[in-house]
Amino acid sequence: MMSKKIKLESHMGIAFSTIGGQKYLFPGWIPVEDHISFDDVEVINPYRNVKVEEYKITGSRGNKYTVTNRNGNFSCDCPAGKFRGACKHSTQVQKDLGLVE
Ligand SMILES: [Zn+2]
Repeated sequence: MMSKKIKLESHMGIAFSTIGGQKYLFPGWIPVEDHISFDDVEVINPYRNVKVEEYKITGSRGNKYTVTNRNGNFSCDCPAGKFRGACKHSTQVQKDLGLVE
């Protein structure tokens, strides 16, 4: 049986919740039938065309980290980068790219 897919724009994934006997699809509070599952939803990521560049960088203790550039937003997977959002690795990459002094 062919079923029509629900198209939903989300860059954070989707979720279902049943409130007051009605099943809703999030984000958007879209009322759906009970049988609708993740397989019935086509998630469209509005940022899918965002250019993503990854830079491998070796930290001072020899740990290897990945700095990711998403349209100019730099992030790093090291502990400091995860908790503070900025770290010396992402700064280093931006320096190497000539983006900052
Ligand atoms: Zn880092």
